[in-house]
Amino acid sequence: MGFKIISVVGARPNFIKIAPIDKAFQAYDSIQHIICHTGQHFDPSMSKVFFEELNIPKPAYNLGVSGGSHARQTAAIMTAFEEVLLHEKPDLVIVPGDVNSTLAASLVAAKLQIPVAHVEAGLRSYDRRMPEEINRIIADQLSDLLFVTEQSGLDNLAVEGVDKRKIFFTGNVMIDSLVCHKPLIDQSEVRNRFNLKVYEYVLCTFHRPSNVDDPGQLKALIGLLNELSGIIKVVLPMHPRTKQNMESNGLLSTINPEIIQTEPLGYIDFLALTKDARLLLTDSGGIQEETTFLKVPCITVRDNTERPITCTIGTNTLVGTDFRHVREVVLKSLKTIDHEGEIPPLWDGNAAVRICEIINNYLNNKLL
Ligand code: UDP
Repeated sequence: MGFKIISVVGARPNFIKIAPIDKAFQAYDSIQHIICHTGQHFDPSMSKVFFEELNIPKPAYNLGVSGGSHARQTAAIMTAFEEVLLHEKPDLVIVPGDVNSTLAASLVAAKLQIPVAHVEAGLRSYDRRMPEEINRIIADQLSDLLFVTEQSGLDNLAVEGVDKRKIFFTGNVMIDSLVCHKPLIDQSEVRNRFNLKVYEYVLCTFHRPSNVDDPGQLKALIGLLNELSGIIKVVLPMHPRTKQNMESNGLLSTINPEIIQTEPLGYIDFLALTKDARLLLTDSGGIQEETTFLKVPCITVRDNTERPITCTIGTNTLVGTDFRHVREVVLKSLKTIDHEGEIPPLWDGNAAVRICEIINNYLNNKLL
């Protein structure tokens, strides 16, 4: 008997997470895996490049929903995705991560009584000012299968009373993509293109509202990067949201020309630069994990993290969002080259294989 599964992706980190899952499903003749792109990220540098580099099949559907308030975007995805589900009648819907597409798709599927599998379940920042936190909580409550990346996820789901039989500690699909593409990452010429030497540059990415929506924070961020560029090379691939906010606040021209500013980089080049950086300075979720795996120091400019294992055993340091303090920590850490850390359990490149096996067993009633 054949089964149909639809995975719903909308934003850059989702594409990286679904690539290994799509690949692992190829081992199952009885499973048809199709991808629905909601359109949340539509800029080619935030979407198309990942499908090409990570060999993800062309989505069977593109819902074309981008922009708008959270409510409008979520509602538009829900309305369009309901049509897809009514037409396709899948046996299961996979939602990776924590974006609005994750929330919208899990709500629609659950209401149509189609089982939902959440990849990267259980992560909690305990900060409901983050839209992602709301998305995670709801997706986990609605899911029938919850795939967890680290111990904190298991602990959080236990506190929230999620039935243990639905929860599986499978490892990290973000790391699967990294392991799978490591040979290509090692061959990238990006460092030469930017004239950078190993451990002699800081790689920075910022896109969270707590850092880039407030002009005061943006000014403080640019002030720190400008100061750093007098000490070490600074590379800044700019997220579209950050660029737009800098532009509308008249701040783009205040960035020191010494700083290597780029469009968002493709996956292979970004990881190649990450691997050899002295330090990552970021507010990203996924980058905290990738740097832990690569044992590259990461300073995370946020008040909390939903990925605490990256701090407890990995290379991540959480510094808060007060740039005076961020400055102190960054300047201190530049004085040493420290690439020490442990790789968390099951971050071994095989998470997607485990996930697909569990899903296959579930569909064949072999679970529970
Ligand atoms: N990334 C990339 N190019 C860039 C910046 C990031 O390919 O210029 C990748 C990187 O692998 C990272 C992932 O995009 O882990 C996640 O992106 P983002 O920070 O947008 O999302 P978050 O993890 O914060 O949800």
